[in-house]
Amino acid sequence: MTAPTAAEHILQELGITEPGEIDLEAIAWHMGVSVRYRPLDGCEARIIGNGSRAIATINERGSWKRQRFSLAHELGHWKHHRGRILVCRADEIGQRNGHAVATERAADGFAADLLMPRYLFEPVARAHPKLTFQTVCEIARIFRTSRPATAIRLVEGRHFPALVICHGPNGRKWFARSPDVPDRWFPREDLDPESFAIGVLFGGKPDDAMPRKIDADAWFERPEAGRYEVREQTIRSGDNEILTLVLIEDEAMLEEWGRSSGVRSNR
Ligand SMILES: [Zn+2]
Repeated sequence: MTAPTAAEHILQELGITEPGEIDLEAIAWHMGVSVRYRPLDGCEARIIGNGSRAIATINERGSWKRQRFSLAHELGHWKHHRGRILVCRADEIGQRNGHAVATERAADGFAADLLMPRYLFEPVARAHPKLTFQTVCEIARIFRTSRPATAIRLVEGRHFPALVICHGPNGRKWFARSPDVPDRWFPREDLDPESFAIGVLFGGKPDDAMPRKIDADAWFERPEAGRYEVREQTIRSGDNEILTLVLIEDEAMLEEWGRSSGVRSNR
């Protein structure tokens, strides 16, 4: 296993050996940060420091999972960006919108490592052989994290060759992809009429109970996508938002193509 990250180091320093022991307020105190909860307008959280002490203010109007992620995110700023003024908006914290600035991405990375440290997350993920939203929900319950944050961790942590994609009525909001899935499998911007997801977002259809097989061209625009099948499972994640797992099981899709030729000759 690779060296512990800054957040994992803090957890190990505190002797944390179970997900239930990740007490963010105690961790904040250990880092010299007092936490208060207030109604905030225009931002989700902020942290103001002086010397070795800081005060983090978290928007008390957010859900408890949101507040937890926001506090972990602010602790990330305290660890990495001390002395800078940063205001963290709701649409920036934890959202993979591609426009997030480096400081926000770093704080999100710290938050994910603090809430789902690899040394605790990996054994739990390994105990779940299949990636479904049922797995995501079970693990989210153990780590007290949101479904999107947990799904991103499962996908990016190489536990499954898959993508997690979030769509709203105006198209794709963000996605995360396993490092085992080659870059050429870039998800479509808009929902394909063939996808099951479109029925969940617009057609009032219920959440998919299990991943279902679908032609890969419903999710990827590459010309060769029509040759393959993937599995898709979609759930509603908000009034106007859905989350989809796209599972890639066909080994041929997972082969890296040579960078020099760009084309494989043995297919
Ligand atoms: Zn921030």
